[in-house]
Amino acid sequence: MLPSLSSLQHPPFQKPHQNQPNPQIQPSDLLHSFTTPFQLKQIHAHIIKTNNSISTLPLQRVAHVCGLSRSSFDYARQIIHCVKIPEIILWNSCLKSLAEGDSPEDTVHLFYRLRQVDLLPDTFTCSFVLKACSRIPSLSDGRIVHGFVEKLGFRTDLFLQNTIIHMYACCGVLDDARLLFEKMPQRDVVSWNILITQFTKQGEMGTAKELFDEMPERSVTSWTAMIAGYVQCGNPAESIRLFGEMEEAGARPNEVTVVAVLAACADLGALDLGKRVHEYSDQCGFQRNVRICNTLIDMYIKCGCLEITQKVFNKMEERTVVSWSAMIGGLAMHGKGKEALELFSKMSRIGIRPNSVTFIGLLHACSHMGLVEDGRQYFATMTKDYGIIPQIEHYGCMVDLLSRAGLLQEAHEFIKNMAIKPNGVVWGALLGGCRVHKDIEMGEEVIEHLQELDPLNDGYYVVLSNIYAEAGRWEDAAKVRRLMRVRGVKKTPGWSSITIDGVVHEFVAGDSTHPQAEEIYEKWEELLEQLKLRGYVPDTSVVLLDMDENEKEHVLYRHSEKLAVVFALMNTPPKTPIRIMKNLRVCSDCHAALKLISNIADRQIVVRDRNRFHCFKDGLCSCRDYW
Ligand code: ZN
Ligand code: ZN
Repeated sequence: MLPSLSSLQHPPFQKPHQNQPNPQIQPSDLLHSFTTPFQLKQIHAHIIKTNNSISTLPLQRVAHVCGLSRSSFDYARQIIHCVKIPEIILWNSCLKSLAEGDSPEDTVHLFYRLRQVDLLPDTFTCSFVLKACSRIPSLSDGRIVHGFVEKLGFRTDLFLQNTIIHMYACCGVLDDARLLFEKMPQRDVVSWNILITQFTKQGEMGTAKELFDEMPERSVTSWTAMIAGYVQCGNPAESIRLFGEMEEAGARPNEVTVVAVLAACADLGALDLGKRVHEYSDQCGFQRNVRICNTLIDMYIKCGCLEITQKVFNKMEERTVVSWSAMIGGLAMHGKGKEALELFSKMSRIGIRPNSVTFIGLLHACSHMGLVEDGRQYFATMTKDYGIIPQIEHYGCMVDLLSRAGLLQEAHEFIKNMAIKPNGVVWGALLGGCRVHKDIEMGEEVIEHLQELDPLNDGYYVVLSNIYAEAGRWEDAAKVRRLMRVRGVKKTPGWSSITIDGVVHEFVAGDSTHPQAEEIYEKWEELLEQLKLRGYVPDTSVVLLDMDENEKEHVLYRHSEKLAVVFALMNTPPKTPIRIMKNLRVCSDCHAALKLISNIADRQIVVRDRNRFHCFKDGLCSCRDYW
């Protein structure tokens, strides 16, 4: 790597007042390792003294060492002129490594110096400087180089034109990039890809798609840019659709494509496709790609497959802090708090420095196991030992931890002393604690804050109404319902989805549109008999509608996750795990029912709700009934 401009002014080998060369270093040793103009002069003198040819000097190094020093620039040129090589070639090599190195600004400095002595740039010179301008980014310098390209008649150089478009796009003037693109006498797939990629990065998927559709031919990069773009802007379903088209078109996904599709699968909980992409990735030999492995971990965790996640993690040859944090967070999310903390000890032992995400996982784990003291300590060490400033997620975890443990007063104090403004998640965690520990007064106070922060979120009203109902205060529960009506809070329709044989089935609460609706309801009635035999009593307090008990039960029985589970029981072989994605929190009635169903049907049922995973097995849930 080249020294930067400032380090060249103070050569590292000698202090300014020491003009004597270090007696230990012989000029012959320095021939290929000199780092300062002063050392070069020593060698130069040595070459003359020993009657050697100046061509033994490594000229590229001469250019590198002297190019950035104003006083030595001319000296370097004198040496270069003694050898019969076009001078610009040597400067180009210097510009290239500067443009790709740590200080792209130096590329621009050197370029202007070359212009001052009227050295004519060639297409390579321009491309390296443009690259530096993209990286800085510096639009003004980029425009000047663009001017040279025009003046020197390089307009027909396609590679250079693409580099200019890229420069404009990186400098944030996408319109100029687009204009230039439109005016290009000829374009190749790279020109299109540059523009499409930049539009997707700006989240302008509409424009990107227009360009993508117009392209005369597409490369893997074009497909990948679109697929990744849709995931980034929160449209994973479109990513997956496009990936299907890409496969049909016969394009072979590369490592970047694989990462993007896996991320889409994670967001959608599309386990089957995720598994298929995983297999493909292994066949291509992508196992060593840490980013792919990290995305696989994330995908399998979000699809509720902890065992496969563990396998992927164990097989990884190289693990980054992202891999460890994902695994720790995953274990915590699935109720394996002890394992999460053990993994953290292992990570610390081998010297991996935790980051802010690692601590979210750790605090989650403590929360799950009720380890209040450990949680407090992790929260403190995070800042004290690692200099990580707590974010809203960390505060949320701490409030959750304290509230679960019944330390509601402390949790409330903690919120009041937060360095940042608490959000709905933080207050929501305390409200959850108020429900479990039956603290009505605190619940009433908390709901005031929530109404201010997130007035149209019906979830909080449901919890408050449950708190009243559990305390037998029906009047107040009714008041909450009236309040919802007055405030215009609409109940978000709940939906659950389940994928069977690659087909996604969606169920909305009260659904009767599904082709198998009638059979599903029949099967539910059967199941209900068995549930009741095992002590299931419908918990109608979760239904916040003014109707009689019978009607409430009816509404309750049509909750989307119940429909999805019954559908899965009917359409999958015995013993296969059932995986459901849900947009809202699981209500306490469904939670109780699913626990029993896991036992009756002898199935593992994994539900990913808005906040967490519930893994129902043998009549119990991994959340230990706190969610
Ligand atoms: Zn429910
Ligand atoms: Zn649960």
